[in-house]
Amino acid sequence: LIQLYIPLNFLGVLYREIKQSLTDLDRMFTLMAREREIADAPGAPDVALSGPTVRFEGVAFAYDPARPILHDVSFEIPAGQTVAVVGASGAGKSTLARLLYRFYDVSPDNGGRITVDGQDIRQVTQDSLRRSIGIVPQDTVLFNDTIAYNIAYGRPGATRAEVEAAARAAHIHDFIVAQPKGYDTVVGERGLKLSGGEKQRVAIARTLLKNPPILIFDEATSALDSANERAIQTELRSASVGKTTLVIAHRLSTVVDAYEILVMEAGRVVERGSHPQLLALGERYARMWQLQNAGSAPAGHIAQENDTH
Ligand code: ATP
Repeated sequence: LIQLYIPLNFLGVLYREIKQSLTDLDRMFTLMAREREIADAPGAPDVALSGPTVRFEGVAFAYDPARPILHDVSFEIPAGQTVAVVGASGAGKSTLARLLYRFYDVSPDNGGRITVDGQDIRQVTQDSLRRSIGIVPQDTVLFNDTIAYNIAYGRPGATRAEVEAAARAAHIHDFIVAQPKGYDTVVGERGLKLSGGEKQRVAIARTLLKNPPILIFDEATSALDSANERAIQTELRSASVGKTTLVIAHRLSTVVDAYEILVMEAGRVVERGSHPQLLALGERYARMWQLQNAGSAPAGHIAQENDTH
């Protein structure tokens, strides 16, 4: 029996490995299928950036043609400025980020356009567009590899010293060196599990290393403890200095300094302006601000409560 046990045990391990690899492959094919739908226009040049200024011009979009998600969304992020988007869960905030990164294209009929320094993003190579944009998503996917690899992914070929400098700036260096294998600690599904805040810091380090001129921050909805949250906000703010930045915010404290704040409801911009302008307007944003300062609920939840009044 013992003679049988070892090979059977080995087969069990092998089976689990294969199953995991298939899950990864499955994910990869899903991503590849997505990629094929979004193709470069024939002979498209690389994007040429000086500022860059980002503009959404009358953007409409639907994942499924039967269910429109965005309606006539227009705004501009001048070079080096920050525009923040707030609103209830499902209002279409993250969809704006996905369109700017060109995971999807605006609707083909009357869907408007998105430009970067005046160039329609459908008319430049995806590769050059994506090299110019850094995303810190809500939930960062970590590869089953070392933490150094996960950070260096922002700029393949980066030296260990550059990786460490980015990790220090994102305030994750001390955490990393406290691990038994330091920067060589394997993280991800089959390695060390990181908390939401730690994963966001890895994403910030990755983005700092990539150093792109355009940034997208999709703030985590899951509540971080307030010390962690303040620290991440400070790191995001310093990372966005001088960059053209789109922030999808769930906490209003993140947006106070934004050049413009867009309040979204069911795929439309229903209120816009700077923080003082929106407070003076005394409508949705002002109510969200009041409620958020009275309690600690995130912006999305508050907007939803308002929707029912
Ligand atoms: P949250 O604050 O919860 O992140 P959000 O405002 O960012 O929400 P989006 O993620 O942009 O909202 O989603 C807008 C709408 O689009 C939602 O109704 C959602 O169900 C739908 N949606 C999002 N992704 C897809 C998808 N891949 N396929 C179909 N519908 C989708």
